[in-house]
Amino acid sequence: MTPEYISPKAAFFTLGCKLNFAETSTIGKILADRGFRRARAGETPDLCVVNTCSVTEMADKKARSLIRRLVRKWPDATIVVTGCYAQLKPDEVSEIEGVDIVLGSNEKLRIGEYLDKWESTHSPLKVSTESLEIRTFSPSCERGDRTRYWLKVQDGCDYYCTYCTIPFARGRSRSGRIADLVEQAESVAAAGGKEIVITGVNIGEFGGDTGEKFLDLLKALDAVEGIERYRISSIEPNLLTEEIIRWIATESRAFMPHFHIPLQSGSDRVLKLMNRRYVTELFAQRISLIRNLIPDAFIGVDVIAGARGETEEEWEKSRGFIDSLGVTRLHVFPYSERPGTAALKLQAENVAPAERHKRVHALQEISDDKMHRFMLSLQGTTRKVLWEHLIKDSEEDTPQGEKIPMMTGLTDNYIRIIAPAQEELLNTITDVRILGIDTSRAETMIGEVVSC
Ligand code: SF4
Repeated sequence: MTPEYISPKAAFFTLGCKLNFAETSTIGKILADRGFRRARAGETPDLCVVNTCSVTEMADKKARSLIRRLVRKWPDATIVVTGCYAQLKPDEVSEIEGVDIVLGSNEKLRIGEYLDKWESTHSPLKVSTESLEIRTFSPSCERGDRTRYWLKVQDGCDYYCTYCTIPFARGRSRSGRIADLVEQAESVAAAGGKEIVITGVNIGEFGGDTGEKFLDLLKALDAVEGIERYRISSIEPNLLTEEIIRWIATESRAFMPHFHIPLQSGSDRVLKLMNRRYVTELFAQRISLIRNLIPDAFIGVDVIAGARGETEEEWEKSRGFIDSLGVTRLHVFPYSERPGTAALKLQAENVAPAERHKRVHALQEISDDKMHRFMLSLQGTTRKVLWEHLIKDSEEDTPQGEKIPMMTGLTDNYIRIIAPAQEELLNTITDVRILGIDTSRAETMIGEVVSC
């Protein structure tokens, strides 16, 4: 083993989704096997790996400015850029001064062999595979914090929504094998992990390439001893079948009452223009079924404001529909023009950026109101909380004027709770009485441990 003081040091920078974070963690393991150690704060790295996102124009901009900052700060470090931005615009990335290696999505986890190549020539490298040719599934499982892990079960997407670049960046849908994913979950349990978030690009497409079924994956994971909680990061409404909802509600041991379902628009006309695979009626049915079977489930919903074709009339329809839904919280994004997407060719009204932001704001207000009402409904109830960590620099005043440290965790239905710290409870699940909303922190409630 290389002594630590001469081991080369690598620093990692991840932008975008949880899938990227999971993959950066795998890159970290690959580099550790090659003798690298993670650079600590204040150290100068020999290698910087930037795993980029390209979901909006803003994401590209963020990636460019991060890369430039790293080059300025550590001019002697080898700079490797990978991820969706590198896959979609390899030329643009390689032209940024100081970038040494550009790796597309398929080459991301082959970083070792490209580093060897670069070492022997020191001339810039730019490699990527045409997205439609990407067929391999690269497994990844990342530890988020002490309690939670992100397990990638699927990659790529075959849906081609008209506003989205992801199918071009990540390629066709492909999946892991149930047996391998169960093995990864078992390793998480052996390492003391309690919660796994199942991630992917279009998770419901799991098994389209292997013939295995998504529900069979959920059942197999549910049986892994030691994992006490699972969450599905996000699933398309048409792929979140009634059968899956009923199984989670009635039979599953560890799948939490928590769903994240992209809606994108509450207007059928706009959904059609977006090439989404459902209509609002199906979406509303899914939400009602969840609410009927699991009344206190957290339901998060993605919405795009001001997409092409969202005329004043369609916007009003959309807003009314979204307001009528029994969901918990909205994740609202303004529509962003992406070069190469079919949306740019649509003969449909283009909403002015200022109007998009006005609509974001209106939806955000609906979201705040829904979230507030959801939190109020939990006040006075008792729920299970998995305690994650102490809150740094956070001390609450007691009525006696003492300062006491606090800890935080999530309820089964995804509400952040804080309570006076009991370090021995970290990474354990306890019953917690929810006392009320914490007005000094966003979307947080105050709890009291009632059992250990
Ligand atoms: S389902 Fe649509 S929005 Fe989601 S990744 Fe696929 S193409 Fe993009």
